[in-house]
Amino acid sequence: MGRVSAMGVSGVDVSGVDVAVIGAGIVGCMTAREVLDRWPGASVAVVEGDAVGSGASRRSAGLHFPRGASTRVREMAGVSELRYRALRAELPGLPVYDVDTTVIAPGNADGRLRQVYLPGAGLRRTDVVPEVLNGLPEGDGAWQVSGGQYADVQGVAQALAAALRPEVRFLEGTRVTGMVSGSDGVELDLSSGGTLRAAKVLLAPGPWVADPAWASWLEPLGLRVKKVVALHVERRPSPGDGVVVFEDEDAFLLPVHHRGHWLFSYTCRQWDVLPEQVPGHLTPVEIAEAHAALARFAPELLPLSTTGRVFCDAYSPDRAPVVRAVDPHSNVVFAGAANGSGYRLAPAIAAEAAALLGPLHSSSTVPPRTVASRSFT
Ligand SMILES: Cc1cc2nc3c(=O)[nH]c(=O)nc-3n(C[C@H](O)[C@H](O)[C@H](O)COP(=O)(O)OP(=O)(O)OC[C@H]3O[C@@H](n4cnc5c(N)ncnc54)[C@H](O)[C@@H]3O)c2cc1C
Repeated sequence: MGRVSAMGVSGVDVSGVDVAVIGAGIVGCMTAREVLDRWPGASVAVVEGDAVGSGASRRSAGLHFPRGASTRVREMAGVSELRYRALRAELPGLPVYDVDTTVIAPGNADGRLRQVYLPGAGLRRTDVVPEVLNGLPEGDGAWQVSGGQYADVQGVAQALAAALRPEVRFLEGTRVTGMVSGSDGVELDLSSGGTLRAAKVLLAPGPWVADPAWASWLEPLGLRVKKVVALHVERRPSPGDGVVVFEDEDAFLLPVHHRGHWLFSYTCRQWDVLPEQVPGHLTPVEIAEAHAALARFAPELLPLSTTGRVFCDAYSPDRAPVVRAVDPHSNVVFAGAANGSGYRLAPAIAAEAAALLGPLHSSSTVPPRTVASRSFT
């Protein structure tokens, strides 16, 4: 097989890179950025089988809210919130939008809500019922939290890629078809017919965890892939409308202001699907499941909610993201299995992944500097 050559950041044509990122979703793009933050001058290539942001990231509802069911996820949510804030300051056009957040839960849930929402969220009881609900079910109460935002996740991935392109080589439309890890690095076979050598690999395949190129390495992690579904509610949100989170149903109603409709996300329980076999369209089963969840809170929205988006995401046994080396030589770091929260936790996942990829010893790199010092402008 021939070799692809990757252009190093120094402008020198090299036959390999310090880091190859597989998958240009939100996690892969965010990690490429983190790697350069930590090791300015590192040579980085991102290999993407389709186009930037075209996997789970394309269908994402992109909601971040300041919550985590476990200590690890709460910590990651806190880290991500700060990093998204910094990123938005660096890239003002980023398609990320602040949103007021109301949580609906049984009236006596205050204690347990305080355990899962971040202290900085300022959880507080409210008498204001979101207009979209037309009242609360008997026995339920409402709370407000701060820090919510939602994004066009594909747009965020594309904006990150655009900002990185001067420094990072993006190989779109190029699948990794095989991967061999040795003591001196990793060799990637590419669908374009070439081979890319990398000292380290960041594997961010989203729900493509069963790809033959890495399935045997990921098998011990016990990951499973579940369908993720959201209905589009064809009602235009008012400017002041915020997201409504249904705590015990693991569901939310999000005003997607920039698209001009609401979105209802519920927990679909169709497990063990393959991304290449998930059709991009809803079936009557999914619409019925979602309607059953929505009927308790906003039955008048059901006739407006017959369309939406369907894809899938990777889930881990403990419902916390997985970031760890998976090959015998610890050259390949897997980052993902974010359990339907890959947008909101991506910056924290990327920070952990980049730390695990280092230290990088390439002659093209210069000593690490602090993450905050890098600017895209
Ligand atoms: C309908 C829906 C709603 C969601 N809502 C939310 C939400 O509100 N908040 C939230 O935080 N998360 C949400 N998620 C989850 C979130 O979107 C995902 O966790 C996140 O996008 C995963 O990002 P990723 O970069 O890991 O994967 P992806 O975006 O799937 O990227 C992986 C990339 O790897 C590429 N790839 C795969 N195999 C290969 C190969 N062999 N060679 C080269 N490239 C390859 C794919 O083409 C893909 O582009 C939602 C997901 C869905 C489907």
